[in-house]
Amino acid sequence: MSDDSMTGQVIVVTGASSGIGRAIAIDLAGRGAHVVATARSTDRLAATVVSITDAGGSAQAILCDVTSAADVHRLFTEVDRTHGRIDALVNNAGIVAPAAIDEMTTEDWRTVIDVNLTGPFLCTRGAFAIMKRNGGGRILNIGSISASVPRPNSANYAASKAGLVGLTRATAIEGRPHGIAAGCLHPGNVATEMRLGEEPEGAEGWNAEPMMTTEQVARAAALMLNVEQGTTAYELTILPIEQDFLGRG
Ligand code: NDP
Repeated sequence: MSDDSMTGQVIVVTGASSGIGRAIAIDLAGRGAHVVATARSTDRLAATVVSITDAGGSAQAILCDVTSAADVHRLFTEVDRTHGRIDALVNNAGIVAPAAIDEMTTEDWRTVIDVNLTGPFLCTRGAFAIMKRNGGGRILNIGSISASVPRPNSANYAASKAGLVGLTRATAIEGRPHGIAAGCLHPGNVATEMRLGEEPEGAEGWNAEPMMTTEQVARAAALMLNVEQGTTAYELTILPIEQDFLGRG
């Protein structure tokens, strides 16, 4: 992808060291945005930035654990100091920790909620203040169809993604008077490390299900961030046409 539809925009992408986040960072930079790529893994994050700059794009890496309020504060302080603006935030960082509900440890519950829900809250809080001061921006949360159609053994994940829908709505309501739009993108199966790991108990055969590429999801994210000024793309579900999702048979 190479166009200039987002030239001059400063966009923060969390979880940009792999999978969907990496693809979103590369896609948005290909549209002219300056991407602030964040995650915890130094080398993998650097690789994302190199991919962007090698292709003639603009990006920087800032390490940040989204569960750490101090890290997130440092991230947005640094972006504000350097650029004085944030045009969009993509809350993408996320994890899974599958377990049957009666065997799920409290730690497994808290860790997933922390990364998938508290992280987006902390980042939204940081970006919102800068966007409000500057008169607007877009916040895009990467949800999941699990928010509405969970699989077995995913209570922590499904609850975190359903919570993210609530956070999106709350952000959209509070953002409205300030020109801040919030939306949520719900992908189905995407071929990433997270999705193609060891098959969890009770989900045998799930790695053989139809998959999207990370690039396909990244283009959907860009579509939501690129709607006409003054409009908002509020929710979008994207999945492989063949994926089981809607109902029986
Ligand atoms: P990956 O495992 O490939 O990537 C996850 C990213 O999140 C990594 O960059 C990782 O970076 C980052 N991350 C994890 N924990 C933290 C943390 N504490 N702080 C900061 N960054 C963190 O997963 P996907 O690309 O598949 O998933 C991306 C998003 O898409 C997630 O929110 C996921 O729920 C969602 N999704 C994925 C689907 C799929 O089928 N793959 C389907 C529907 C939704 P690092 O380890 O370097 O910190």
